[in-house]
Amino acid sequence: MSSWTYVSAIREHVGQEVTLKGWLANRRSSGKLHFLQVRDGTGTIQCVMEKKIVGDEPFDAAGALPLESSLAVSGTVREDPRSPIGFELAVTAFSVVAPAGLDYPIQKKEAGTDFLMDHRHLWLRSRRQQAILAVRAEIIRAIRDHLDSQGFTLIDAPILTPAACEGTSTLFETDYFGDKAYLTQSGQLYMEAAAMAFGRVYCFGPTFRAEKSKTRRHLTEFWMVEPEMAFVDLDGDMAIIEDLLVAVVARVLDRRREELKVVERDVSKLEAVRKPFPRMRYDEAIEVLKRAGASVEWGADFGGDEETILSRQHDSPLLVHRYPADVKAFYMKRDPQDPRLALAVDVLAPEGYGEIVGGSQREDDLAVLEASLERHKLPREAFEWYLDLRRYGTVTHSGFGIGIERTVAWICGLPHIRETIPFPRLMSRLSP
Ligand code: ATP
Repeated sequence: MSSWTYVSAIREHVGQEVTLKGWLANRRSSGKLHFLQVRDGTGTIQCVMEKKIVGDEPFDAAGALPLESSLAVSGTVREDPRSPIGFELAVTAFSVVAPAGLDYPIQKKEAGTDFLMDHRHLWLRSRRQQAILAVRAEIIRAIRDHLDSQGFTLIDAPILTPAACEGTSTLFETDYFGDKAYLTQSGQLYMEAAAMAFGRVYCFGPTFRAEKSKTRRHLTEFWMVEPEMAFVDLDGDMAIIEDLLVAVVARVLDRRREELKVVERDVSKLEAVRKPFPRMRYDEAIEVLKRAGASVEWGADFGGDEETILSRQHDSPLLVHRYPADVKAFYMKRDPQDPRLALAVDVLAPEGYGEIVGGSQREDDLAVLEASLERHKLPREAFEWYLDLRRYGTVTHSGFGIGIERTVAWICGLPHIRETIPFPRLMSRLSP
């Protein structure tokens, strides 16, 4: 057998005999020719099989092979301007690895979303789902590359935690040798500790929220990158968020154009993302919303509808900052200019996508933080270690969390978050 290669590397083998291993994605036949579409995970290539070259038996076997069977196919690589990838394979030999059953559940005809979600393990093979997950992988790589190049150190946060960082209402509880433990809802507090050791850090891991929200933007398990920086205030935080998002969009446009085409993304919208991003105080946002007819009062947090209105008005992500402290977490620093406000920022992705990043400057004063814990009725003992960070060399510091799935939904232009993660966990879905 000739040497094994991948569809993605096919251009390096023009005129050579190679072997590809993959699955039969589609087939068209005309008389003594089969056109086999072979998918190997890196791409799909048309393999042209001629009866007189491969012989009767293999030809008939290929003609009867059910779609999604696994196979190995050898042949000569030739250029073909009509091919979407520019190349095809002139088959000289083929063998079946394992034939698929005839009842492959995902057929060409339209299937409902529930059905497809029930068959997510097979749905992943479809072109569109592959494209979305390839963009997801690129976004993750872009975030890590960007942060790594900016002097951040990756610090992993624990997933099992003894206490909530914002109260226990949305936590998944589990038994921990007779005690209670919770699945993490954020690695932030641990990143604050790490920032005091490393300066600039980030964690990247799964996050769990037992939110009973059935929206197009909420998963119960999602992935978040949480950078945290010492000696950085809210303005610095916003500048770092902006640079990160610009780098991510540029990277996807640079490396994943094909996939964006598959998901039919209007890339001009992504190309319009530019620095500086618009910035708006919460106060101004309330005015904008009122003018747009929304019934929102000062003091309320924004829901999906409000975020949609605000984020439709700009080409680049919108940074809304200085929210009422009462709707924000206990660790956020109050604005010295107006103590009713928290030095918080939410980043709303354009085209109505809404929040993809939440961040803030953290309270660095011990006494203020102690009072805040009390006001939020949080158990002081659980936070003693966190208070230590203010006892021993406290500094101005800030950070943020960027949700991977919401970022993927925005960049791919998807109406719902469920297709942005390989195996989504929603309030009503825990399988496959
Ligand atoms: P929301 O108000 O939209 O529920 P949040 O304010 O609770 O979000 P943060 O705690 O600030 O969100 O989390 C930071 C980021 O994590 C969000 O901007 C978002 O991208 C992502 N995120 C938060 N909750 C979820 C969720 N349930 N599913 C998917 N992503 C989420």
